[in-house]
Amino acid sequence: EAKESNENSYTVFTPEMEKTHSRKFTLQNDLRRAIINDEFELYYQPKVSATTLEVVGAEALIRWNHPKYGVLSPGDFIPLAEDIGLIVPLGEWVFETVCEQIKKWENKGFPPMIVSLNFSASQMLQKGLVSTVGRLLDDSQVDGKWIEIEITESLILERDNEVLKKLEGLKELGIHIAIDDFGTGYSSLSYLRKYKFNTIKLDKSFINDIHTSIDNQAIIEFMIRLSNQLNMKVVAEGIELEEQLSVLKTLNCDELQGFLFSKPKPVAEFEKLLRRDAVF
Ligand code: C2E
Ligand code: MG
Ligand code: MG
Ligand code: MG
Repeated sequence: EAKESNENSYTVFTPEMEKTHSRKFTLQNDLRRAIINDEFELYYQPKVSATTLEVVGAEALIRWNHPKYGVLSPGDFIPLAEDIGLIVPLGEWVFETVCEQIKKWENKGFPPMIVSLNFSASQMLQKGLVSTVGRLLDDSQVDGKWIEIEITESLILERDNEVLKKLEGLKELGIHIAIDDFGTGYSSLSYLRKYKFNTIKLDKSFINDIHTSIDNQAIIEFMIRLSNQLNMKVVAEGIELEEQLSVLKTLNCDELQGFLFSKPKPVAEFEKLLRRDAVF
């Protein structure tokens, strides 16, 4: 593969390139076995009420406990899973696991809350998505109203009408739909008219300097007001500093999420937060 047909241009793999190349290759193979080997795990990050700072929801974020490389983040393997056609089974695993978790928390007596999960473009576009999701809800006996699916804008740009149909089908199952990382893509305001999102998640990049930039504060204020008027729940993500929190408290945000409150945690640790009746 390293050799090119033209003899004059000869690509040589440096040891470094070889390492990356073979690592990617190994990861692909490992990924194919990871579901059966039970190597994936969902971490949960709390969403807190902007008024009471109580935990009112959670976002499930996938991790891969790789036997050799340790805990890998979605950025390290989701694109790979997309490439090799594994994203659909992986997405089903995520959905199923979230349903099971909701049921477990119910059985343990925790107050019910909405749990969100992330869907990528190819997952949204898969054939039979709505009936698969319907079956997974049936199997687990979970009401769709406890689940929220987060999608990004880039996804909407792709095959607009197909996505719209799927979203409508999911909503009929009671599932909430959130637009993730809002403000980063080509956020056209017309999306907000065409798609009736339940929730809008303001991207971390706006939150970062909300306490230092009056301009950014104005943008956030505007987006929050707009969302309120369109009856969407507003979640601010990526809050790391007290200063950011105090600005957000003066605005009409519904929920807050970020390392300031908690990093995403494995179930057992997340449950400790719930047991403490966590108020931050
Ligand atoms: P996202 O859905 O926008 O999730 C937020 C990301 O920001 C998470 O990274 C989270 O750990 C991180 N984060 C949360 N609060 C803070 C903060 O205060 N500061 C900073 N610096 N970061 C914060 P993570 O877990 O690495 O996930 C990255 C992305 O991978 C997610 O972005 C989502 O798009 C995707 N992803 C995660 N889990 C899944 C999954 O199960 N399926 C699919 N298709 N994509 C997933
Ligand atoms: Mg998300
Ligand atoms: Mg996000
Ligand atoms: Mg993101």
